Amino acid sequence: MTAALPDPALVVLVGASGSGKSAWAAARYRPQEVVSADHLRGVVGSGEHDLDASADAFALLDQIVAARRAGLPGVAVLFDTDPAVCRRRNAARDRSVPAAVLDSQLRRMPAAIREAGAEGWDLVIRPQGAAVEPAHTPGSRRAAAEQSLRPAGLGFVLQISRFPWGDDPAGWLAAVAAGAAAAGLDGIALMDHLIQIPQAGRAWEPIPEPWVALGLLAGLAPGLRLGTLVTPVTFRAPGILAKTVATLDALTGGRAFCGIGAGWWDREHAAFGLPFPPAAAREDRLEAAIETLRALWQPGTKAHRGARVSLPETTCYPRPVSHVPVIVGGGGERRTLRIAARLGDGCNLPADTGVLDRKLAVLREHCREAGRDPAEVAVTVLDVPVIGADRGHAAAIVERLRGRTPAATFARRHHAGTAADHIGRYRLLAERGVSTVFVSLPDLAGPGDVLRLSPVTAAFS
Ligand code: GDP
Ligand code: MG
Repeated sequence: MTAALPDPALVVLVGASGSGKSAWAAARYRPQEVVSADHLRGVVGSGEHDLDASADAFALLDQIVAARRAGLPGVAVLFDTDPAVCRRRNAARDRSVPAAVLDSQLRRMPAAIREAGAEGWDLVIRPQGAAVEPAHTPGSRRAAAEQSLRPAGLGFVLQISRFPWGDDPAGWLAAVAAGAAAAGLDGIALMDHLIQIPQAGRAWEPIPEPWVALGLLAGLAPGLRLGTLVTPVTFRAPGILAKTVATLDALTGGRAFCGIGAGWWDREHAAFGLPFPPAAAREDRLEAAIETLRALWQPGTKAHRGARVSLPETTCYPRPVSHVPVIVGGGGERRTLRIAARLGDGCNLPADTGVLDRKLAVLREHCREAGRDPAEVAVTVLDVPVIGADRGHAAAIVERLRGRTPAATFARRHHAGTAADHIGRYRLLAERGVSTVFVSLPDLAGPGDVLRLSPVTAAFS
């Protein structure tokens, strides 16, 4: 039985000397994450056992905790270790705590345990019996164990949103695609923006026209599915998009997909001389664009008279060689999700389980209203995980990327952890009906980073 401990969190260890606090912390956290009065006595005083430095050490401890705790859940871990064990361990120490001091600590423990429930902690746990592990997502450790016993299937597609390709764009793209194939990913999705977005990088960093770049990958990455996440309808006339995607599908023997959305960033439209109509008009265009794609991808050339679009003929060759999935991106609950429910092959939603649960409920309600079986709309998510080789590596990635965002906030936003942590979280997504995770690595520099996804794809293959 494994209990989850929120991560990051302010975790306060309560127990007598020798009850096992330091050992418990060292087994779960990096040294920099542990704040202890013993250690701080050594910082402000002459050593860990310099009792004269206690007041200063605790003042410093209070200050450190105050600075780091902002916004974190508070967890109390109660070490009700057998008093005889504490006494025995204390006696075996180089510098023992005086017996009277230990006795008073031990006497205090039952009351401390009783009082903890009323002290306002987000969580109170006792480490005895249950194995307690830090986990960024409640239930993810249990889900990872479940996944290894009874594997669920889940597809993974690498979403590339930053292109640190130096002076060899084509070589970099080819190497990353080869890495994706080697890591067991099902495909590659490129972001479609005209200027690099602030969430992913800086405005002067390269961001290629995705359909051209996918044309290069079409000839280099056998087996990978290729598409965008997502193409704003405001960038291209819908008929031209139909032609582009059909061509990619023909060139790849049926491996194209088309992520599509209403567009959101006014700046890139203005800079490239594109109209950026109000949201309602962009949603109308989204609906019309999907209708146009479908019309031009159907067999035959007959005229199309639809809800929003009329075309005198639908002569579009080459046809796609397969049914090209149209994945609607965007979380707008009133319009976008309704469009996805009515017209999408898939709907791309945020990976955060709380938000996902709400959006899924709305999507499924829209499906029922439209008389469509919710199972016909594949659910995909975009996830931006920090995946470290171990806890220390994950923390180092967070520290490198976080900018001025507090480390704890950044770590939580990106679920910073090891592959095992992410496997559990992805299992929770699979249990909610997600079929594909678009994975965007915030630290993607080259193919080696993609290979860190191998344990994740292997767990779901
Ligand atoms: P603290 O005073 O509460 O920080 O206690 P420590 O974590 O320093 O533990 C006191 C001693 O007990 C150390 O020598 C630890 O190695 C040992 N110890 C702690 N936890 C365990 C445990 O679960 N099993 C065993 N066998 N020894 C432990
Ligand atoms: Mg200790």
